[in-house]
Amino acid sequence: MSQLEQTKLEQLELALHYLVSLLEEGSLVERYDEDSREEFANVLRLLVEKVTDLPPNVPENLVKATAVRAIIGASEKSNVAELKARREKLERNQREVEALASIQGHLLGEWEQVKGSDMEFQATCQVCGGFVYVSDASVYNLLLDDCQRL
Ligand SMILES: [Zn+2]
Repeated sequence: MSQLEQTKLEQLELALHYLVSLLEEGSLVERYDEDSREEFANVLRLLVEKVTDLPPNVPENLVKATAVRAIIGASEKSNVAELKARREKLERNQREVEALASIQGHLLGEWEQVKGSDMEFQATCQVCGGFVYVSDASVYNLLLDDCQRL
C-alpha cells in the first residue's frame, strides 16, 4: 500500500470511529431515536471490524458482503437486547404479583409457562384455586382480595 493510501485509510478509520461515538452520544443527531442510533453505531463498528479482517485482494462482492453481515450482526445484537428487556419486565411483573398475592394471604404455586408462548406464565393459589396470568406486557390478576378456601 502506498503512503497516500495508508494515510487515507487511517483518516477514514478515524472518521468512522468518531462517527460511531457521535451516534452513541447522540446530541448532534437528536432527531434519530435512541434505538436507531445504537443500531447504526453497531453496524458501523462491525463493518470496520469485518473489513479489517478481510484478506488482501478479495473479490469486490465479498467486500460488499461485509456490509450485509454488519447489518445482520447489529440486528441480532438488538434482538438479544430487546429479548432481555422483555424478560426483565416479565420477571418484574411476576415479583409484583407474588408480593401482592402474599399480602392477600394467597399461596401461589410454581409459575407455569402458557403453551405456545415463552413470555406468558400463570400461577394458581394452592389454597383457593384463584389464578394470575402475567406476560412482559400485562398482568391479569384473578385472585380475590382475601384468600378464602372455597
Ligand atoms: Zn388464595
